[in-house]
Amino acid sequence: MPEKKYFRCPLCGAILSEDQLTPEGQCPYCLAPKEDLIPCDEGDLTWLPKEELLTKNLWEGDKIFLRLLDTRDSFFTLKLVYDGDRLTEAVLDGRERLR
Ligand SMILES: [Zn+2]
Repeated sequence: MPEKKYFRCPLCGAILSEDQLTPEGQCPYCLAPKEDLIPCDEGDLTWLPKEELLTKNLWEGDKIFLRLLDTRDSFFTLKLVYDGDRLTEAVLDGRERLR
């Protein structure tokens, strides 16, 4: 299977495969032209089973966010504060502190 090329949109931050671009080659979310899109530097992007996701090297905040996506039915806000690479604060819905 040929590898898909991915791009990062510098305007809206979306990660896009070539087949997600508009017929004119633009970002579908903000219509940035293809020549402005940056080849993705996020490594090799692949689909993987949901169960494997938390076994990967993730930011601590991503683990919290993914757990919430998997367990919450309702809308939520999540504030994550880092000091360098270290997660120092995680606030759910403006009040609950998670660790
Ligand atoms: Zn965009």
